[in-house]
Amino acid sequence: MKTIIEPFRIKMVESIKMTTAEQREKIIKKAGYNLFMIHAEDIIIDLLTDSGTSAMSDIQWAGMMRGDESYAGARSYEHFYNKVYQLTNFKHIIPTHQGRAAERILFDILAQSGKYIPSNTHFDTTRANIEYNKAEAVDLVIEEGKDPQSLHPFKGNIDLEKLENFFKEKGRENIPVCMLTITNNSGGGQPVSMENIRGAKQVCEKYGIPLFLDACRFAENSYFIKMREQGYENKSCREIAKEIFSYADGCTMSAKKDALVNIGGYLAMNDDELALQCRNVLIVTEGFPTYGGLAGRDLEAIAQGLDEILDEDYLHYRIRTVEYMGERLDKMGAPYLKPPGGHAIYLDAKAFAPHIPVNQFPGQAIAVGLYRAGGIRSCEIGGIMFGKNDPETGAYIPPNLELVRLAFPRRVYTQSHFDYVLEVIEEVYKNRDSLKGFKFTYQAPLLRHFTAQFEVCH
Ligand SMILES: *Cc1c(COP(=O)(O)O)cnc(C)c1O
Repeated sequence: MKTIIEPFRIKMVESIKMTTAEQREKIIKKAGYNLFMIHAEDIIIDLLTDSGTSAMSDIQWAGMMRGDESYAGARSYEHFYNKVYQLTNFKHIIPTHQGRAAERILFDILAQSGKYIPSNTHFDTTRANIEYNKAEAVDLVIEEGKDPQSLHPFKGNIDLEKLENFFKEKGRENIPVCMLTITNNSGGGQPVSMENIRGAKQVCEKYGIPLFLDACRFAENSYFIKMREQGYENKSCREIAKEIFSYADGCTMSAKKDALVNIGGYLAMNDDELALQCRNVLIVTEGFPTYGGLAGRDLEAIAQGLDEILDEDYLHYRIRTVEYMGERLDKMGAPYLKPPGGHAIYLDAKAFAPHIPVNQFPGQAIAVGLYRAGGIRSCEIGGIMFGKNDPETGAYIPPNLELVRLAFPRRVYTQSHFDYVLEVIEEVYKNRDSLKGFKFTYQAPLLRHFTAQFEVCH
């Protein structure tokens, strides 16, 4: 088999500032060993997130120039509406400035104290918007989804038996909506099968509960279905995506993922009454219903991005990139969460650096190691992000997994960039015994990972 090449040519470039190990040593120290506090310019390969970091195409940029900036009834809205409608068949499509704005509007209306909202796994902004409205967000992913070594092909699936029992236990009147995150971001970018989506719809229908998709990575999920689920191998990803949306009553979407844009999102649904309420909130907090929180040019870029994301050559290259990273990590023996998902590789920090105790944050030690060795920015998803202290005793309670996420921006880096990342990981892995843990010198009361400061444990 031949090399799977990037299915695009490059006609605009952005320079990467190269740094030396000595320079990086000073930079990381000055940043208090927090990678969020480093200037992006001082990063060589930035794998902090795949959100809003895509490279837009020539056609998307051309669309930006054609954006209709009329306050009401802009042509760009029609274009955007038609593209989303063709894909999802949802009647009401409400643009928002990003995914969490769609979530906020939806849960403003649906979530109150005493209500429960189940999902396979809620993404953290979804959970936060539900909890902000005093409802309870409940994760019901299958058991395999919680096991970092399980090779289940659809680790993002929701447990249908648990879901039905949950509906019975809490009562339909207390469950305004059921969510399904595709792919399951918090679970490692793991896909959900068509059978499971269909099954979730059947259970929801039986109890009269609407099913909404958190559809951020619908195209990556569609490609996994084509590759892994019987009966879908000869269907196009567009057909698969349309079938997925046919089982849902609505969706929230961050266009910063699978719509290949740098900002944007939407909320879509079929229910007329709910849509009316959502639009009323939208007008107060985001903008008029034909632009939401976006410029006309943003709507053009989303409309075009939704076409490009379903290009099978693109998806093949995209998913293959992540798979390739996994294969090479297997070869060097570096431990990561398996199987690789759609948008990121997650290094398993406890297995990578077992000599560092969890209260000294092995994930942070690796993330800092990757920056020192090669200027790579990754993201600790472990004790710093999710660790808690017992309110009574103050004892540290670590999360189950200590991970380092390397998230891949779409269409931004080439194969040689990825090979470089692998070389850096290999170097850090070979010298893993020299990695040292960290302790806080400053932490904010909420979302501490963004602004925390650290010192090295000796
Ligand atoms: C990014 C993301 C969101 C939130 O979208 P923003 O555009 O960042 O507000 C919601 N759900 C999932 C699964 C996401 O990945």
